[in-house]
Amino acid sequence: MSFSDIPVDVGPVYEGERIRSNQMYVELGGPKIEKHFELVKVRNVKDIEDGKVTLYGPDLKDMEEGSRHPIGILVEVAGKELEEDLEAVFERRIHEFINFINGVMHLNQRYTNWMRISKTAIGKGFNSFNMMGTVLIRLFKAELPIIKTCQVTFYTNVKDIEKPYKLALDTYSNRDERARGLHDGDVDMFYGCVLCQSFAPTHVCCITPDRTSLCGSINWFDARAAAKVDPKGPLFEIPPQECKNEMAGEYVGINETMKKRSLGEIEKIYLYSGMEYPHTSCGCFEAIDFFIPEVNGHGIIDRNADSLAINGLAFSAMANQTGGGKQLAGFNGISLQYIPSPKFQQYDAKKIGLDRGIDLVVWMNSGLKERMKELLPKDIIDKIATEKEVNDINNLKEWLKKNNHPIVKTWVETEEVEDNEEDYEEQGAMIPLGTQTMTIPGTGGFGGFKLILKNCKIHADTIIIKKIDTKKKKSN
Ligand code: SF4
Ligand code: ZN
Repeated sequence: MSFSDIPVDVGPVYEGERIRSNQMYVELGGPKIEKHFELVKVRNVKDIEDGKVTLYGPDLKDMEEGSRHPIGILVEVAGKELEEDLEAVFERRIHEFINFINGVMHLNQRYTNWMRISKTAIGKGFNSFNMMGTVLIRLFKAELPIIKTCQVTFYTNVKDIEKPYKLALDTYSNRDERARGLHDGDVDMFYGCVLCQSFAPTHVCCITPDRTSLCGSINWFDARAAAKVDPKGPLFEIPPQECKNEMAGEYVGINETMKKRSLGEIEKIYLYSGMEYPHTSCGCFEAIDFFIPEVNGHGIIDRNADSLAINGLAFSAMANQTGGGKQLAGFNGISLQYIPSPKFQQYDAKKIGLDRGIDLVVWMNSGLKERMKELLPKDIIDKIATEKEVNDINNLKEWLKKNNHPIVKTWVETEEVEDNEEDYEEQGAMIPLGTQTMTIPGTGGFGGFKLILKNCKIHADTIIIKKIDTKKKKSN
């Protein structure tokens, strides 16, 4: 395959390229633009004009330096073996293929797609969507040979993007709805994806009906279709084998695959926990589920949040901590579809005496809560705070008490345990800690980590348990 007619280099070596605002000529989509999308549709061969690139709206060369525009990318493909279930997996490749272009940066997917074209690329003559479409068509056909014909349409103005944007949103929600009807216990095969190993080499996504991939773009049906047509490709089968812990979602087959595909880095994962052996996170997660030690609960912030999370951190700051293929207890990159799943962090909930994982959630950014409203149990939604109700952790505590959030009853238990410990202190005796959790405050106002002591006994002459006043600590 040759790109000699394209004025900039094209290849996987440019995948990690970042284009900062001072290097950027133009920005397409992203958080400051209302409507943008990327979508792949499987069509009949007769409906496709192979190699055709169409543009509705201004071309790159007509855009002013420093400006922002809507972007819609519709890739239509045909081929005898293609089926609708493959659309989402093909769609995820748009991110990869566009990033192959030197001087073009692509982030995210679906309706959160975001691109920047560098001044250097424009200077070299990469000034037309026709070139970008041509690159996409060549790569789609070369990398996915079951695609026989391909055409691409770009939308770059507010008027023309309207209709295809609606088609895209309907398509995403149909895919999500179908996946929500199926659960992990209904299937005997899970799937893995290693597409993100180009920048997070130890990251492997494990895709099950209850855990749509953390990028939100590949559900169990999509993964199954992709693994079927290309079993040696980036999506593959994971036979779950024996279930070692049903509550945690720990399977022998998943652990073996994780170890093998993460270069030995990840020994095991619990599918339904953000606190113990959590699923790794690459960088493209739709949201972050994070532990809030001060209230023993979890917060969730999504990529579109325009305010800080309750712990004082922005999505981007927490994303740096969460991503990169690490397994970090208390920070878990997740898809939005995992939140309404009955399996959502169920292990963490049961461990502190709650019935459902969703009962752990004490805070969400308001945009996310609005999106999740219809999908979450009615009895919890009004008890989840957002940045509109509370702005710091002390207020959050009061708010949760006032709204009778289920997490509050776990505090009572903690207080009781502390009382018991004081009794033991008086007696100077051995403290049977069993499985208890302690919060050790970290530096600064945020965080700390949770230390879990299982089946252990601690012997000490004296134990002093002090309550730390976070307010006082801050003012020191
Ligand atoms: Fe694949 Fe996971 Fe990356 Fe999505 S986030 S592309 S499923 S590895
Ligand atoms: Zn990723």
